[in-house]
Amino acid sequence: MAECVNKEKNLKNCPCSYPGCEKKGICCECLRYHWKNRELPGCLFPPEAEKTYDRSLEYFIEVWSKKLGK
Ligand code: SF4
Repeated sequence: MAECVNKEKNLKNCPCSYPGCEKKGICCECLRYHWKNRELPGCLFPPEAEKTYDRSLEYFIEVWSKKLGK
């Protein structure tokens, strides 16, 4: 995996609670990996939803629709 000059800075702001992920702090790898499966990175979910580890686009839409009252 390529080194990222922003990794340390990214790690300080990464709310993903999934343990042992090698992509943590390398946001481009994280996004590429999840989007390939039509998922989104954990940081885009509200904290309680992030903890479920369901990163699907469907869950993202469901959670945010409810939260925004749509
Ligand atoms: S969102 Fe997925 S790829 Fe990104 S750091 Fe968390 S577990 Fe790893």
